[in-house]
Amino acid sequence: MSNGNCGANYLNWALKHLNMDETLCAYLQTPYRVISVELPLPREDGIVVFKGYRVQHNHARGPFKGGLRYHPDLNLEHAHALAELMTWKTALMNIPFGGAKGGITCNPAELDERELEFLTKLYTRRMARLLGPDCDIPAPDMGTGPQEMAWIYDAYGGYQGGHHPDVVTGKPLQLGGSAGRVAATGRGVFLVTKWAAEALDMGLKNKTIAIQGFGNVGAYAAQYLQKAGCKIIAVSDANGAICNKEGLDTKALLKTCNEKNISVGKATSYGESIEQDQVLSLDVDILIPAAIGDAIHKNNASKINARMVVEAANMPITHEGEKILAKNDIVIIPDIMANAGGVTVSYLEWIQNRSGLIWSEKEVEERTEEIMHQAWKSLCERHRQKELSYRQAAYLIAVERVAQSSELRGYA
Ligand code: GLU
Repeated sequence: MSNGNCGANYLNWALKHLNMDETLCAYLQTPYRVISVELPLPREDGIVVFKGYRVQHNHARGPFKGGLRYHPDLNLEHAHALAELMTWKTALMNIPFGGAKGGITCNPAELDERELEFLTKLYTRRMARLLGPDCDIPAPDMGTGPQEMAWIYDAYGGYQGGHHPDVVTGKPLQLGGSAGRVAATGRGVFLVTKWAAEALDMGLKNKTIAIQGFGNVGAYAAQYLQKAGCKIIAVSDANGAICNKEGLDTKALLKTCNEKNISVGKATSYGESIEQDQVLSLDVDILIPAAIGDAIHKNNASKINARMVVEAANMPITHEGEKILAKNDIVIIPDIMANAGGVTVSYLEWIQNRSGLIWSEKEVEERTEEIMHQAWKSLCERHRQKELSYRQAAYLIAVERVAQSSELRGYA
């Protein structure tokens, strides 16, 4: 979990580099709106009051868009940093959304289904006036998934009357969710890793990869990359890690862990159990942090032994960590490019809901690839032209786009 807005460093750098005026700087450095709600939940042993947040960072280019995180460490500062990141992510993808993020400070593993439904619907009702298909569209993030989105859809409909599937994305298929949404972020990570490997003249065939995180993002990315000929030599989850230098069978590993409800570290028929931290320092071609924020920091960055780090998680590298990686010539593919597959398919879900169309998985995959590849091409162009890091190039493109829309509107 990120402990501070390290994205602010990159934003400030971009604003300076682009020579933006003071008004615009203040406008982009601060959120548009911050909402917090208190959520009293009746539990067996009495009422427990949870805190919920939504930070709407910017909507110059379209409705606020971003996930809802259920995590014990979530606070306003994190939500702000993550909301801002969404503004740049949607701008870089050139999809007509702004940026937001929110959630509930809780450990979802300690709540039962009824409690989660109650909290999610209470959160939605209290936020409802500021949500909406043309205003702010939540989606899944850490600790939430299609079921929470279904509850939001239901509670918002109750508040507003009628059907509004386009108020939330990442819904179950049965309620207007899009084909391909569940795998979307992991597939996007795979596509971007493939393009980046081509750009570095290394390709994917037989490349060794370590992945921190084997949840929705890491597990899908692993399977796509393995299919493309990579050797996934290590993966970790919240409770353990496993390594096999010959390459893990990631599909079977996932199935075993799900069926037996065990950590990857306990699935020793697939490889050798190792310490979670070791996953980061293995000698690999590509390292993919796909778990928490701030995973790579000043105390462990010098141990990274990869040619390229692909940020599947949001903000997995601190500012100090990034400096050390850069000094060691390790290429970083930034989160706002690498993990944008999720919000891109969210956009396609929103279009389908608004038009009443239902696209096949193939159609969704093709459209996603087209949007992301356009973004990747403009990123590479900027990166080459000015000899900037991929992150710097990404921020310049995104900040410039948001600034232009803001100026044209006379500050939204
Ligand atoms: N939570 C995801 C992200 O950080 C998806 C957001 C969305 O689909 O709106 O990009």
